[in-house]
Amino acid sequence: MTPRLRLQPEAVGLGMTSQRVRDRLVERLREAGISDERVLNVIRTLPRHLFVDEVLASRAYEDTALPIGHGQTISQPWVVARMTEVLLENAPAKVLEVGTGSGYQAAVLAALGLEVYTVERIGELLRQARKRFRTLGMNVRSKHDDGRIGWPEHGPYDAIIVTAAAPALVPALVEQLRTGGVLVAPVGGSGSQALVKLVRREDGGVDETRLAAVTFVPLLSGTVD
Ligand code: SAH
Repeated sequence: MTPRLRLQPEAVGLGMTSQRVRDRLVERLREAGISDERVLNVIRTLPRHLFVDEVLASRAYEDTALPIGHGQTISQPWVVARMTEVLLENAPAKVLEVGTGSGYQAAVLAALGLEVYTVERIGELLRQARKRFRTLGMNVRSKHDDGRIGWPEHGPYDAIIVTAAAPALVPALVEQLRTGGVLVAPVGGSGSQALVKLVRREDGGVDETRLAAVTFVPLLSGTVD
């Protein structure tokens, strides 16, 4: 995989968004068990502060989820790193993300050289994310839709990442995975969710592994402008 990241001047950052601050985040992630150097490298170079509102930029390199408006959040860096690490174990080329949000997770995957498709139900969030992809010169394909139906036209995918929690597995998404493909998703209600990894078997069934306890915003139906 080839890193695909061209940094514009505003992406380099100053003060609380400087390289030193990003390096510190990477050290923290390493201490918290993230070991894939490709993932750590992307987190070190990708300007997360461009994915949040300017007033929150100084907090962008804390290992925490942050609000992005419309009641949604940009996921915690550790969660992004862990989910990405799990996906990379299967050496995917083509990935579908459900829940574009700020666009950060999609940008991490694109920076790793993957072919990324992402679906977001809130139009305004998707417009902002697309602007960020353009600023960073990233080729991420995106769609405004209810991601619970996936994006069948481009499937099957080597990997699918769901960044909002559903009470149960979404069958349409499993159907868009190739045999041996991996799906990483938070599953559970608002109280307790588990990050699970599913691998699609040849017979269409799945092998499931529970990875960690997590907290995500809910996977909702329909779209809003
Ligand atoms: N991956 C994002 C995380 C955003 S939070 C990031 O890196 O910033 C989860 C996102 O999932 C929210 O933007 C929410 O609007 C979106 N979402 C929730 N249900 C959805 C659905 N059914 N289809 C598509 N997106 C959905």
